[in-house]
Amino acid sequence: NELPWGPSEKLKGVLVDAFGTINRYPDFYKQELSTGLADYAGAKPENIFIDDGSGTLLQDLVRLVVDDGDEVVFGSPSFAAYAIDVMLAGGVGVKVPLDESWTYDLEGVENAITDKTRMILLCNPNNPTGTFLTTPSIREFLSKIADKGILVVVDEAYRDFVTAEPFYESSKLVEEFDNVVLLRTFSKAFGMAGTRLGYVIAAPDVIDAFGAIRQIYSVNVLTQAAATAAVRARDAYAPVVAKIAAERERVLAELRGLAAEGLPVEVWPSTANFLLVRLPGATRVRERMRDEYSILVRDFSYAPGLAGCLRVT
Ligand code: PMP
Repeated sequence: NELPWGPSEKLKGVLVDAFGTINRYPDFYKQELSTGLADYAGAKPENIFIDDGSGTLLQDLVRLVVDDGDEVVFGSPSFAAYAIDVMLAGGVGVKVPLDESWTYDLEGVENAITDKTRMILLCNPNNPTGTFLTTPSIREFLSKIADKGILVVVDEAYRDFVTAEPFYESSKLVEEFDNVVLLRTFSKAFGMAGTRLGYVIAAPDVIDAFGAIRQIYSVNVLTQAAATAAVRARDAYAPVVAKIAAERERVLAELRGLAAEGLPVEVWPSTANFLLVRLPGATRVRERMRDEYSILVRDFSYAPGLAGCLRVT
């Protein structure tokens, strides 16, 4: 579920220039990148913390917040790393089933809160179902639980592909709630998974906590240069995102067409760069797509609740 196309050609020149500086440590304030990102995301630089990939940021955050026996609530099925990160921190993962449309069930999440709950993870759009919670619905949820002292992490790895509301809309939540953390990555829409770059948008307290545990020279000079250039050239990415969103809708319609013809295919609408499809013999279908058509899809058949499901990027 990365981007199939490489990054913009313009980045090559930027990397060649940055190559001349790799004998020096990177800017540990990441000033240029922070300013560029703040502008891109509609946030203030002091609300942004940048590190090597959003997976690293999430793992650090869980370690910062979760002690032995603390509970972390998240949806199921959702991103597999949540359960692992919580377990490694000594915490207890509390899984709340998605609702009947395979969307995060916010009421169910609220009901799962106990005295031990320290963190809630909302994957939005959800991986692997592609379903999406609007910013107003997350705002309402945050208001309801505001006095409980629980950190709410919204993992927005696929946010750039959401066409239902403007990209920067959710950034406003950080100004309204000091317990919300937005988690973002350059691995998907920016086509830069290999450079390892992620960032959070959160209240200054949370940013300070990250600052206290961080590696001073995280995010190498090449990645900082490439990412700074990428956010500056963001207009070049809009057509890429639009193309993926259009392709997603086309494939959805085609698969629904097959279902309408009576074939046993189930597919869910998605706001991300992938679709989840349920069909008989999924594992065999995956193998044949790979071997006969050179198309690689992800087999989720083994995952709880996802029997017969393939995720198609
Ligand atoms: N969150 C979600 C929901 C993901 O799917 C992924 C990547 N598969 C990540 C976070 C981690 O992304 P990265 O570490 O590349 O920033």
